[in-house]
Amino acid sequence: MTDVAVDLMASNAATSVPVARKVLAMLVAYFDVDVSFLRYNDHSIRASLLVAEWPERLDVPDPDPLGVVYFADADPVFAASEHGKKPLVFRPENEDYQRRIEEARTVPQTSMAAAPLVSGDLTTGVLGFVKFGDREWRPEELNALEAIGSLFAQVQARVKAEDQLRHRAEHDDLTGLCNRRALLDHLAARLAPGRPGPVATLYFDLDRLKTINDYLGHTAGDWFIRVLADRLQQSTKRPSVIARLGGDEFVVVPTEPTSATEAEELAEHLLSVLRERVAIDGEMLTRTVSIGVALGVPGRDTTKELLRRADQALMTAKAEGGNRVAAATEEMALESEFRNDIELHLQNVIENGALFLRYLPEVDMRTGRVLATEALVRWEHPTRGLLSPASFIAVAESINLAGELGRWVMRTACAEFARWRATGVADDVVLRLNVSPVQLVAGGFVESVAGILAEFDLPRGSVCVEITESVVVHDLETTSITLAGLREAGVKVAIDDFGTGYSVFAHLKQLPVDVLKIDRSFVTDLGRNPDDLAIVRAIIALADAFGLQLVAEGVETEAAAQTLLRHGCRRAQGFLLSEPLAGDEMLALLEEGGVSVHFPAVPGT
Ligand code: C2E
Ligand code: CA
Ligand code: CA
Repeated sequence: MTDVAVDLMASNAATSVPVARKVLAMLVAYFDVDVSFLRYNDHSIRASLLVAEWPERLDVPDPDPLGVVYFADADPVFAASEHGKKPLVFRPENEDYQRRIEEARTVPQTSMAAAPLVSGDLTTGVLGFVKFGDREWRPEELNALEAIGSLFAQVQARVKAEDQLRHRAEHDDLTGLCNRRALLDHLAARLAPGRPGPVATLYFDLDRLKTINDYLGHTAGDWFIRVLADRLQQSTKRPSVIARLGGDEFVVVPTEPTSATEAEELAEHLLSVLRERVAIDGEMLTRTVSIGVALGVPGRDTTKELLRRADQALMTAKAEGGNRVAAATEEMALESEFRNDIELHLQNVIENGALFLRYLPEVDMRTGRVLATEALVRWEHPTRGLLSPASFIAVAESINLAGELGRWVMRTACAEFARWRATGVADDVVLRLNVSPVQLVAGGFVESVAGILAEFDLPRGSVCVEITESVVVHDLETTSITLAGLREAGVKVAIDDFGTGYSVFAHLKQLPVDVLKIDRSFVTDLGRNPDDLAIVRAIIALADAFGLQLVAEGVETEAAAQTLLRHGCRRAQGFLLSEPLAGDEMLALLEEGGVSVHFPAVPGT
């Protein structure tokens, strides 16, 4: 019983349903019944709604597959739960109840105890415990049920309050649209590496709203803003997040990837809708609007940059006289040109050798020995010069070419790695491959990796894929299945850029992961920045606790190297140790036995 209370009191809006399910499971065992359920009342529609049940399938009559039962035509159990205040027991002698059960299911005899959730004068839900066959409920048991019902009612009230608070925190009072904070959260999530892009942002500003406020007063101004907000909501044909940033500034962000052309079309459409007259105090007013449009690329742009560019475009629209749409031009042009380039040439690029790989050694900082090598893709562009993956992977992902690119990287790197291995210098070296989230969730990934390993005769454990934290958290279930498949195929898994935001922390224990790579941002300043050290130490402790291998990325200074060594992190990569190398340079390094390191002796290592 204490366990039940502890679990329930610790639950919140996000966890209340799984916690309820867990608690129901405990209670099913405790009371030795067969089925239990939790339902909430919605008095506004006079219905009872299923929230959680245990076991998952409920073998009592439930007329609605979605778990909605209207009290008006409910069986006696549900009817009693509309306003009931005390636990009730239904046993086989209750004929009406029994008849319903028998009609609906094959279970011959059923008995049940129902405990109402009561909050003040209101019955807010019901907990049900069903036993197939007859069962007596002793008064002590019913007392316990009443207490449990009241615990559940408290959680229900708390979750509701939490939801309301969150809604209030995320919405604008005047218009009911999202507020700035909700918009920023949305954009940050959309711009995370690996998310589909581009993310279009339309920044609106009413031209000369101030004059309405000045001549007709603030009430009229507010009313005008509300009318425009309604119009925006009704006319934004693509599913979008619509926010008011305060004053007369609105932002629309379509929730699906949107091209420059599509974004401008949407903006033009909204411009024409907002331009229509609004009646205020018997006067017909027209206020024109200016819109700035910018596109963000996930993994490349930050929320701040994207909004700044949209705002800049808006300034351009205003400077050109208002009542128009302006796009963040150079970037958009560049962007779409760039995308076209990639779209058109990637296939070509793969075939004609403009793509190539560099290898970044990962070394043991005590000895300089090479422990692993990370393949990094490059593109020698005919006019733009050498392109780093940061500039084209995100674009390739957004136009579904990441799979093709990823397969090329994997085959090429494995082929080269197999050649090094054949010379006998890479026996204990691991090949690390960056995998785009898009590849990971696409079907057949595990099979394709396993196929390539077999083709080049690479032993189990010699290849490791690196994935970023965000992808893991984004779809935990699919990723864990894929990761388990990789492990079975003998492929190691590393979490790349570990520590940046998304924290898979909570899930580390249950995920089949072998390696954590501490993100460069915590490492570069080590030896100077105590905050970074605190984080790095925490990550080191975490890796220890879970028995994971740890690699520091971005070691650029001796101070960083020494600090890492002092705290027990020996594996690292970074410019201090080596720049990314061409394949033959990497082979030469392996033949030499590693890089030379001479960090002054560090106590305790
Ligand atoms: P990453 O996986 O974190 O790779 C390490 C990046 O840090 C590389 O940049 C490397 O050149 C750079 N680096 C290494 N040591 C240092 C250092 O001491 N200081 C600094 N400032 N940087 C250092 P690169 O090659 O530009 O790669 C950028 C990102 O692109 C990679 O980050 C990885 O996420 C992605 N990437 C690279 N190759 C591939 C690939 O084949 N497929 C996929 N999906 N992504 C790739
Ligand atoms: Ca990496
Ligand atoms: Ca990294």
